[in-house]
Amino acid sequence: MSSFHYQSEDLYAEGVPLAEIARKYGTPTYVYSRADIETAYLDFDQAFEDYEHLVCYSVKANSNIAVLNILANLGAGFDIVSGGELQRVLKAGGEPSKIVFSGVGKTEEELKFALEVGIGCFNIESPAELELLQSIAQELGVTAPASVRVNPDVDAGTHPYIATGLKENKFGVSRDTAIAMYLKAKKMKHVNMVGIDCHIGSQITEVKPIIEAVSEITDLVDKLASYGIMLEHIDLGGGLGICYNDEKPIPLVDYSKAIIKAMGKHQHRLLFEPGRYIVGNAGILLTKVQFLKKNHENSFAIVDAAMNDLIRPALYGSWQRIIEVKKSKKTRTLSIVGPICETADFFAYGREIAAKPGDLVAIESAGAYGFVMSSNYNSRNRAAEIMVSGNKSYCVRKRETIEQQLLLESVLPAHEEA
Ligand SMILES: *Cc1c(COP(=O)(O)O)cnc(C)c1O
Repeated sequence: MSSFHYQSEDLYAEGVPLAEIARKYGTPTYVYSRADIETAYLDFDQAFEDYEHLVCYSVKANSNIAVLNILANLGAGFDIVSGGELQRVLKAGGEPSKIVFSGVGKTEEELKFALEVGIGCFNIESPAELELLQSIAQELGVTAPASVRVNPDVDAGTHPYIATGLKENKFGVSRDTAIAMYLKAKKMKHVNMVGIDCHIGSQITEVKPIIEAVSEITDLVDKLASYGIMLEHIDLGGGLGICYNDEKPIPLVDYSKAIIKAMGKHQHRLLFEPGRYIVGNAGILLTKVQFLKKNHENSFAIVDAAMNDLIRPALYGSWQRIIEVKKSKKTRTLSIVGPICETADFFAYGREIAAKPGDLVAIESAGAYGFVMSSNYNSRNRAAEIMVSGNKSYCVRKRETIEQQLLLESVLPAHEEA
């Protein structure tokens, strides 16, 4: 199903050999498959075809404008968390009315910009944000369409750093606070409550917490209706998990069936904010082996990518498959690590892989939360990003240069003698 596949011994992205990409653009390099992105989006969208809905791709998972443009062309909406992401979506041809804006700390500038552009919905995460949105909208003489993000206090059963729907998390507000906010907004002239929102976490592989969240939300929707507050949409956030290793992700049909069943009599338009599901398995990180090294009992392959390029293993201890770009039977047990002076700078421990200096390997499932989380730690230039479409490869982000890194910095003026 994936567009990353072997043709005899050689690993390809769609119709392009990865070795050719390394030759042409260097390493480390992210490589994405247009077909895989489109397929994932269309599968998700079609899973809800019998139900009024909008899929708002979560930009933070991979915000390259080529990715956003591919999705905008398919009619996708977008879930943003900053003014910068809003700029990207607009540049990529996204439709403002299909944008929802999430996040606990939206600034005045960001709210103003989003109001001027006319986005579809503000997912408000606190009473203070509601007040601020009302006052900015009043100044601008517009009405802000909004939802309250509710924290349904369910355990998404995922890594603690990406669980967001527990009452001790910073996200959303409690049921009681939400009700108070809707009642308050009812009296506001410049905020129009059009929906309700939740997002309980990422890499969710069980239906149960999702269903619990839906019933919590629909229950609250009924309560609000009893106050005469009628909402148009329910935003269920993102979080649908993917397969990195041996996880059993929720099949899309099960996901949609369970949600529609849990909606019961409620006929609200549904919004979704998938990120990882759309791009996670549509990208790899291509890297070259620099050295092999044996330290006491352990054998290492030191590659030219590092934790600054892909931080998921260091940050979450996450497991990603690593495969040879040229298949070989001469495998050995190696730990794949980067060149940075941190023990956290690793990609994998004890993998059976054929790798000698100069060989290329691909770190799979790197399309989501990969490049977007990269940094310049150790003054390393951020990797190039390549999009493959059929038999062609396109550079959609050039490799950074040290000149570009230094452009924003300066030294103090020369010391002046008294
Ligand atoms: C991160 C995030 C998403 C996307 O999560 P995925 O697990 O990538 O699908 C959606 N909505 C909000 C509010 C988020 O913070």
